[in-house]
Amino acid sequence: MAHLSRPGFPHRLNPDGSYDSICTVCLATVATVRKEEQLYPSELAHLCDPLRLYQVSQGSTALAVRTKWAASSCSLDPD
Ligand SMILES: [Zn+2]
Repeated sequence: MAHLSRPGFPHRLNPDGSYDSICTVCLATVATVRKEEQLYPSELAHLCDPLRLYQVSQGSTALAVRTKWAASSCSLDPD
C-alpha cells in the first residue's frame, strides 16, 4: 500500500452540534456533517484546490478564515 502524504483534518464542533472538517493545507472546510464519523469519506476524497493553495501561499486566506470564524460565532443564538 502506497503511503501518500495527506493533509491533516482537525474537526470543529459547531454551536448547532454539527462538525466541520478543516484541511490544514488549503484551510478549506472539507465537509459539515451531523455525526463526526461521517467526515472520514469526505476527508479521503478531498483534493486541495490549486487556486486556494495559491491564495494561502499569498496569505489572503487568513482573512477568509477569520471572517468565517466570525460568521460562525454570529450564528450563536443568545437565547
Ligand atoms: Zn485541502
